[in-house]
Amino acid sequence: MSKVIDILNSKSSPFATFELVPPLKGSDVEKLYGSIEPLMQFCPPYINVTCHRDEVEYCLNEDGTYTRMTLSKRPGTIAIVAAIKMKFEVDIVPHVICGGASRTMTESELIDLHFLGIHNIMALRGDAVTGQRYFQPEPDGFAHASELVGMIQQLNRGQYLDPTVRNGLSTDFCVGVAGYPEKHYEAANMESDIQNLKRKVEAGADYIITQMFFDNQRFYDFVRQCREAGITVPIIPGLKPISTLRQIDLLPRSFHIDIPQELVSELRRAQSPEAVYQVGTEWCTEQSRDLLAHGVPAIHYYTMAKTNNICQIVNKSF
Ligand code: FAD
Repeated sequence: MSKVIDILNSKSSPFATFELVPPLKGSDVEKLYGSIEPLMQFCPPYINVTCHRDEVEYCLNEDGTYTRMTLSKRPGTIAIVAAIKMKFEVDIVPHVICGGASRTMTESELIDLHFLGIHNIMALRGDAVTGQRYFQPEPDGFAHASELVGMIQQLNRGQYLDPTVRNGLSTDFCVGVAGYPEKHYEAANMESDIQNLKRKVEAGADYIITQMFFDNQRFYDFVRQCREAGITVPIIPGLKPISTLRQIDLLPRSFHIDIPQELVSELRRAQSPEAVYQVGTEWCTEQSRDLLAHGVPAIHYYTMAKTNNICQIVNKSF
């Protein structure tokens, strides 16, 4: 079992990694396996698994009032990680978010993951829940990912929240954090966002994975700004191929990113859903080839449980 940073430092050639979204509650675990199997042909050194907050829904009662319900839509991280580990010979990088959890809950999750033999964590803040305008930490929860990174590093030193734990077992987590080539939507400007990214690195993050982008120049500018700010850890570009016309609206809304006009025009000119899919796949292939030509250490693909296009892209680019 390897740490991502060791893999990044030891691999002589760039590699592809994949991010999976756990299936919805009630689906068969085979569905999860089915979205991993096609990716195994590329021998990924690890697979990222996202983590999702409970969602809030308002259900209409017979008397016309609404009841607020908190719903867990997907199985928990621990179960997903255990299921994948039982089936595949691949390292897992579970995403751990601050949102919805107290410090104690987060620490327990990290201890469980350590017991499961996990050596890598992607540390994130998470977003606001439905109905909340801005992200709000739980009472005694973390407000920023840098605080979560700090907790992980304390556990790596054997320091637990409970002060009565003496000579606690040290975890040995390698930590990834998120970076935003087009700025995180809450940050006042790019400079302050990069300073906040630097805080995560100073708190102990080993590497950065970026938000998706569709114009590689944004990524190159971001890497340059990070280096100028003194961030020296590896930066892995994150890519997602567009597969439907709806995503032209959905992706900027959900992820606060731009889609270049050239790509939008090509997608709109496409005559069928298949042609749209092909345009998105080819654009991402070109992005991948260009990134590899610029010497990136790896490319992180957001699969969103759809793997056909990703397999085509990796086959044509690596
Ligand atoms: P932070 O680093 O805390 O930053 C959030 C905002 O606060 C930024 O604007 C930053 O500039 C600012 N900030 C940071 N530190 C400070 C500080 N000390 N003082 C003041 N301002 C500060 N979400 C999920 O729910 N589940 C996932 O599995 C998931 N996986 C992701 C994977 C990747 C690769 C990426 C790029 C994003 C992922 N996200 C996921 C989305 C992420 O949770 C959101 O983008 C979230 O809004 C910010 O998370 P963060 O970890 O970057 O937060």
